[in-house]
Amino acid sequence: MPEAPEPAGQRCDFCGAVVPTVRRVALDQDYDRLVKPHRELYACAPCSERKERSRLGLGPDRTPR
Ligand SMILES: [Zn+2]
Repeated sequence: MPEAPEPAGQRCDFCGAVVPTVRRVALDQDYDRLVKPHRELYACAPCSERKERSRLGLGPDRTPR
């Protein structure tokens, strides 16, 4: 397994996975207390969806009912 010093892609700020494409996630609400406002992080697809769900108040792994 070759070790790539420079991964071709961007790193997800949530799970740390390197993926070819990431989404920019603007932190808001609760995160404002932890980090600087209007800070943007990069999230992979799964993390982005998870973030979107929790943002909508559906919860990370709770099915909307
Ligand atoms: Zn991720």
